[in-house]
Amino acid sequence: MKNTTRDEWRVIIEIRPRYTHTPISALGFTNLDYDLDGEIDGDPFELTIAPRRLGDLGAGLSVGDQLASRDIDAAYKRRCEAMLAELLRAPHVRGGRVTCTETHTCSHCSLLWEVLTAEEAADPRNRQDEHSVEGEPVCCGKAIAEFRTEHGLPAEQQDVTP
Ligand SMILES: [Zn+2]
Repeated sequence: MKNTTRDEWRVIIEIRPRYTHTPISALGFTNLDYDLDGEIDGDPFELTIAPRRLGDLGAGLSVGDQLASRDIDAAYKRRCEAMLAELLRAPHVRGGRVTCTETHTCSHCSLLWEVLTAEEAADPRNRQDEHSVEGEPVCCGKAIAEFRTEHGLPAEQQDVTP
């Protein structure tokens, strides 16, 4: 079956520079003399923020994410959503969202999960046999067998060696 893993949780916010006369100290230029300071100008732009690792306990202490949380995905998602909610309170933040990278792999063979499209299923070169349909996995026999059982389709014909 299809296993989905999520990774690289990120918060993306849209900054509108001109809205509140955002000082450039907001970008980390904090040591400028008063006369050399200025305001951020330009069109709205997006900023991507990586959350602090779950295992980063502060004060120089660090453990693996697995030790810090039983459900790493949910914990990163919660953390990112909390970050976003907090960041949205700033008037120069116009909007934002939480994203992650999803990877789908086969639980049997660990290859990337791919299935036949309707077009591919119509092409005999892509079909295992006449029972191949749209949505059938392509990675391995076990995944195909599982799909066919779930969908009430006849099993693939196996070459039986005596
Ligand atoms: Zn597989």
